[in-house]
Amino acid sequence: MTTARPSPTDPRRRIPRTDALLAEPELVAAVARLGRDRVKRAVAAAQQRARDGVIAPEAVAADAVTGLPATATGIRPVLNASGVLLHTNLGRAPLSAAAVTALGAAAGTCDVELDLATGQRGTRGAGAVAALRDAVPGAGAAWIANNGAAALALVCAALAGSGREIVISRGQLVEIGDGFRIPELIESTGARLRPVGTTNRTHLRDYAAAVGPDTAFVLVAHPSNFVVSGFVAEVGIAELAGLGPPVVADIGSGLLTAHPLLPDEPDAAGAIAAGADLVTASGDKLLGGPQAGLLLGGGERGTALVDRVRRFPLARAMRVDKLTLAALEASVAGPPTPVRTFLDADPAALRARAGTIAERLAGDGIDAVAVDSVAGVGGGGAPGVDLASAAVALPERYAVALRAGDPPVLGRVADGHCLLDLRALAPADDDVLVRAVRAVA
Ligand SMILES: *Cc1c(COP(=O)(O)O)cnc(C)c1O
Repeated sequence: MTTARPSPTDPRRRIPRTDALLAEPELVAAVARLGRDRVKRAVAAAQQRARDGVIAPEAVAADAVTGLPATATGIRPVLNASGVLLHTNLGRAPLSAAAVTALGAAAGTCDVELDLATGQRGTRGAGAVAALRDAVPGAGAAWIANNGAAALALVCAALAGSGREIVISRGQLVEIGDGFRIPELIESTGARLRPVGTTNRTHLRDYAAAVGPDTAFVLVAHPSNFVVSGFVAEVGIAELAGLGPPVVADIGSGLLTAHPLLPDEPDAAGAIAAGADLVTASGDKLLGGPQAGLLLGGGERGTALVDRVRRFPLARAMRVDKLTLAALEASVAGPPTPVRTFLDADPAALRARAGTIAERLAGDGIDAVAVDSVAGVGGGGAPGVDLASAAVALPERYAVALRAGDPPVLGRVADGHCLLDLRALAPADDDVLVRAVRAVA
């Protein structure tokens, strides 16, 4: 068999060579962005399409560029118009501009663990720890783990992993998120679970009867994503603190101090003031920072316990990286986080934004109207809390089209409409939202 060679007039003879294509400015830029191998594969595929006669030889460079992604990661930014402030599937808290800048500063070589004055090894994460101590009145010590689950697991392992007991109310043996069950987590650390009371009612006397020489600590776990009402009773931290053993409060959301819109959400400062020795929480829920687990110690005993926990060998396996430390410090000490801004948003301002967006879209002949809406915290926090909001209502078919758009937009389908809720969207993104809707109209 012989391979058919193109005749001198065959357009396939005009297909540019790979090295010539890779010298085209757009493809040089793509190599810088994505790496040579990736771009070469796209070029080869485009050349093949030209050989097959699908595209003209002159179109090879443009064709190769078209199929290439904008960045070297497959993770894409998504506009959160769902009205859920902390959407776990969207990566929970969006970072502040200050935190993003901090990420950039920490991305290269940096002094995360070097004292530049002495040239000696420095304290890793000192800035983030200091920011947390400043932000939480009463916190004498702090440590940072990979996430909230890691912080709690570490406390259980370090203080009770040798088979000692963790006393907890049956009403708090909860499942909080996919794969996160408080009782299973506790037992996986080697600690023994000592449940007290009943599902709906637990009293101080139940705890008092269970506490003894085997007790490592009393755990108060916030049932973050559901509410129980009716004939219910739980015991507060202040009363438990009088029992003797340390009290550990897993508050979950990472609210550092109380927020007026969230009266039922426990906060770190409040838990410490009530007498908790240790507080564990997430960094990427209401705190509005990167994924992290906070461990805060209150009083002398809490400070000593933080020290014990962070020296426990397993702590090394849950250590956070420099990026987390930088972003967390900036989120705690810097300007208000986006989550905080969304939480504090004025509903009238949201309505005005929805009105403007709907008018702009209607001006293009798109069936858009501004409506009142109800947003929520999400991310396994503040269940049952309704946040007054405003949305742009579009025909339902937009939901799928917008999700497939560029940038993708996640709305909410309700009552046969696609609602674009503005509570969890920065005003700076309104223009992007309008363009995204126009693009799929
Ligand atoms: C969310 C939550 C956790 C888990 O925290 P992650 O940061 O998701 O690991 C633990 N406890 C409570 C009460 C929570 O709300």
